Amino acid sequence: MTNENDADAPDAGEEKPVLEDTIVEEQKESIIQQFSSSQLTYDGPVQLICPGCHTFVETQFSLKNGLLTWALVIVLLICFFPLAWVPLCINSCKDAVHICPKCRYVIGEKKLLNF
Ligand SMILES: [Zn+2]
Repeated sequence: MTNENDADAPDAGEEKPVLEDTIVEEQKESIIQQFSSSQLTYDGPVQLICPGCHTFVETQFSLKNGLLTWALVIVLLICFFPLAWVPLCINSCKDAVHICPKCRYVIGEKKLLNF
């Protein structure tokens, strides 16, 4: 016994239009470009719209020992070592960072010494 099934399937050659996600990404980039670092001060936390997650946040502000801090420590070690620790306690000798508390995006960074 032979079963002959002649299935005449019509060719469904319909092409669905593919939506491109690149448009959305381009919009995000333009928002980041619009963000100006002049909004930032380095005295403490700042309230702004995070360019990373586009939420209104108060930045997480932190000071850290930067290149200038350690350069001053080394200079003081050579010149007058009992005071070598002083730059580590002076905020104006340190680098400052603004971080978004929600998405951890580094919104602004002030480096006193940059290579
Ligand atoms: Zn964010």
